[in-house]
Amino acid sequence: MADTASTEFTKDFTLQEPIGNEGIERAMAILKSGKLHRYNVDPDEKGEAALLEEEFAAYMGKKYCLACASCGSAMYLALKSAGVQPGDKVLCNAYTLAPVPGAIENAGAVIELVDIVDDYTIDLADLEKKAKSEDVKWFMLSHMRGHIANMDRVMDICAAHGLELIEDCAHTMGATWDGKKSGAFGLAACFSTQTYKHMNSGEGGLLVTDDPDLMARAIIYSGSYMLYERHTARPDMAVFDKIKTLVPNYSCRMDNLRAAILRPQLKKLDAQCARWNKRYQILERGLNAIDGITCPARDPRENYVGSSIQFSLIGQNEATIRRFLADCLARGVELKWFGNKEPVGFTSAYDSWQYFKELPVLANTKRILAVMCDMRIPLTFNADDCRLILAIIKEVSATVLK
Ligand SMILES: *Cc1c(COP(=O)(O)O)cnc(C)c1O
Repeated sequence: MADTASTEFTKDFTLQEPIGNEGIERAMAILKSGKLHRYNVDPDEKGEAALLEEEFAAYMGKKYCLACASCGSAMYLALKSAGVQPGDKVLCNAYTLAPVPGAIENAGAVIELVDIVDDYTIDLADLEKKAKSEDVKWFMLSHMRGHIANMDRVMDICAAHGLELIEDCAHTMGATWDGKKSGAFGLAACFSTQTYKHMNSGEGGLLVTDDPDLMARAIIYSGSYMLYERHTARPDMAVFDKIKTLVPNYSCRMDNLRAAILRPQLKKLDAQCARWNKRYQILERGLNAIDGITCPARDPRENYVGSSIQFSLIGQNEATIRRFLADCLARGVELKWFGNKEPVGFTSAYDSWQYFKELPVLANTKRILAVMCDMRIPLTFNADDCRLILAIIKEVSATVLK
C-alpha cells in the first residue's frame, strides 16, 4: 500500500446515499396531491402505505405487515399485541440499542437482561438458564449491529421453554440465517427505516407476523380510526370485529410520503445489501490483519448485512482505547466505543438504562463492551475509502496499541 502517513480521511460517516429518482417523483406526486395521511385515499384505492405493507410482507414471506412511525413503536406494539402484560418479564440480550429497552418499558414490562459472548451474540447458555424460570414467557432478541446468533439453537430453546420470540431486525433487514430471513423466525419481527438503517425514510418501522390476532391488535393500536379495512396486508375483518373496542389507539402510523420513498428502495434492497457486504469484507479482512485488532469470526450460516463493523481491542485499557479513538478521529476516522461510562450519540451500554431497577452485573457483557469499537459503513464510501480507513487505523494502532 502507498505511504499514507500524513493522509486524512475526509468523508462523512453519517452520509447515506440520496433518495433515488423514483422515490422523489412519487413523493412529489403525493406532496402535490396533499394526500399524505395513509387513510386519505378513495375507498378502493390502495395508498402507498398499504402497498408498502403488501410488498414487505411478500419480501419477508409473511402474511401480515404494519407500517409504523418507527421501529421502536413497532416493537412496543408487537409486545403489547402479543399479549405482554404490565410487570411481565421480557428476556433481552444486554448488547442492544436504547429503543429496545425503551419499547419493553413502554409495554409496562420488566427487562431481564441476558449476557453475550465474544462474537457479540447472545449467550445461549445464559438464555437457557433464564428461560427455565417459571415466570418468563417473552423474549425480545435484538440482532444488534446485524450479529445473528445461532437461530437453530435459539428456536430450540424457545420451543423447549415455551418462550415467545419477537425479533428486533433493525440491522438485519435483508439478512438470513441458514437461508431463512432474519425476522421470519419469531412470532413477530420489527424493522427500522430510520436514516441509518437499510432503507431510509428518515423515520419509520415495519412489523411483520403470521399471527392474525396479533396483527389485528397492532393495526388498531397503531391508530387505524376504525379504517382497518383499508389495510391490505391484514387478517379478515372478522378478527377485528371481536376486539375493536378493546384496543386503544396509540397513534404511531406511517404516512404515505414515507411509504412512497421506501417502495422503490425495497426493490433494490438485496442489491444494496451486497454492496454493503463488499465494503464490509474489505474492512473485516484488513482489520483482522492489524496487530491488536480482532473482528470475531462469523458463522458461515449467517448471511449478514455489513452496514457497520465492530471490532475488539482485546487486552487494552481505557486510556489506550481513548487515545486510539482520538488519534483515529484526528485523521477523520470516526469510531464509536461501547465502553464509554456515559451514553454518547447512538451508543450506550445497558447500565445506562437505570429506569429499570436492579440491573444485573453481566461480567461478560461488560468485559466485551469495554473493548468494542464500532464503525458505520455508509454506501457513500467506496472500496478505496475502505482501504484508506484501514491504512489510518493500521498506523494509529502501530503507535498506540501495546
Ligand atoms: C435503530 C435501532 C432500533 C430502533 O429503530 P428506530 O426506528 O430508531 O426506533 C432498534 N434496535 C436496534 C438494534 C437499532 O439499531
